[in-house]
Amino acid sequence: MATHIPDSPKVGMVSLGCPKALVDSERILTRLRADGYAMSADYAGADVVLVNTCGFLDSAKEESLAAIGEAIAENGRVIVTGCMGNEAEAIRARFPAVLAVTGAHQYEAVVEAVHEAAPPSRGPFIDLIPQPSETDIKLTPRHYSYLKISEGCNHACAFCIIPQLRGGLVSRRIDAVLREAEKLVAAGTRELLVISQDTSAYGVDTRHESREWHGHQVRAHMTDLARELGQLRTPQGAAPWVRLHYVYPYPHVDAVIPLMADGLLTPYLDIPFQHAAPSVLRAMKRPANEAKVLERLKSWRAICPDIAIRSSFVVGFPGETEADFQYLLDWLDEAQLDRVGAFRFEPVAGAPANDLPGAVPEAVKEERYARIMAKTEAISAAKLAAKVGRTLPVIIDEVGEPDEDGDIGATGRSQADAPEIDGQVLLRNVPATLAPGDIVEILVEDADEHDLFGVITRG
Ligand code: SF4
Repeated sequence: MATHIPDSPKVGMVSLGCPKALVDSERILTRLRADGYAMSADYAGADVVLVNTCGFLDSAKEESLAAIGEAIAENGRVIVTGCMGNEAEAIRARFPAVLAVTGAHQYEAVVEAVHEAAPPSRGPFIDLIPQPSETDIKLTPRHYSYLKISEGCNHACAFCIIPQLRGGLVSRRIDAVLREAEKLVAAGTRELLVISQDTSAYGVDTRHESREWHGHQVRAHMTDLARELGQLRTPQGAAPWVRLHYVYPYPHVDAVIPLMADGLLTPYLDIPFQHAAPSVLRAMKRPANEAKVLERLKSWRAICPDIAIRSSFVVGFPGETEADFQYLLDWLDEAQLDRVGAFRFEPVAGAPANDLPGAVPEAVKEERYARIMAKTEAISAAKLAAKVGRTLPVIIDEVGEPDEDGDIGATGRSQADAPEIDGQVLLRNVPATLAPGDIVEILVEDADEHDLFGVITRG
């Protein structure tokens, strides 16, 4: 007699917000998959839809609410999770049909809500089916992966509500982080992106507790983590690219620069400076702002000339004067950062900055935004132009279809470009065998303000 194995219930996922939220979505899906759920790529095929929200800026909240509304209209059975989960009442008031609302990182609660909304099918052979490992469900392409090392933050930046939303710093065990990284690399990841709210503070909450890793002790500390990640090897024996994001310039950051010079770490640092004028930084209550950053940048470049520094800045913060803003522009001239994102200050409900005096009029914010963009684009264009004629390693993200002449183009990134936030390298005439995740050597033939253009010299 044939045994009927029931169909698995299907879960749809809408993931909004930052890469950190994406990592949460991946974890939730991994857990659900282990419980016998299947994934649905569209609303129609899903028994229940999870919306992982972002509640950082008011504009992100609006986007999250719109996504919840769309999921209800299209499917009707919706569970909300993520940062906006902390505003359960407001969500329920607007969408009474929502089945459940859970906060950020409450994996158990989300999984329970899904179990209630669409009970898992338990066929007689279900336990014989191999369960996927923690790294099996990935929303990011296989060749790069975000590696989250901690949750929360111990700072109190005036414009930010992350500590209220997510609580204080909680670091993951170093051996757990390294095990996850090792599995990812064994499964095909060629680039690891280390993320957290404050990567340089990793392990502060656990007093940098040591754990055994492959026969020796390693501390929960950014330098140890970076050194160990740099020793990982893909099944083909290649070193993966390892990028550090959200690093504050505490003095110990100096220790990772030699690792970059030695090729253990990708020569790239994402440091969210947010401003340069001392009075604005003080008002923002930014961590590590006392460091003599320009001198440090100079010394880092002396050790590792190819280091790319990315940063983000806020213009129009309350109390920012024209002199403060000009200070920032002059500082940027000196700092010569490789990649810059700029934002106009936007009040976030619940953030202390909203009560600060000296609100900057919208028109002035716009004008300053245009000026900082023009400045940073000019710096970026000059830095990229200086790369024309050089050969660089590039990781391939996407390979196109042949055009009418049979030529195939591809897009990739140099070591100076993190996925989704930085520039790209556009390649012409690539071989048909090229695949995402391949790391090739290219000759840079041209450049604009953001991107490089080139051709492969070695596959
Ligand atoms: S460092 Fe500041 S901006 Fe970053 S999460 Fe912590 S409080 Fe927010």
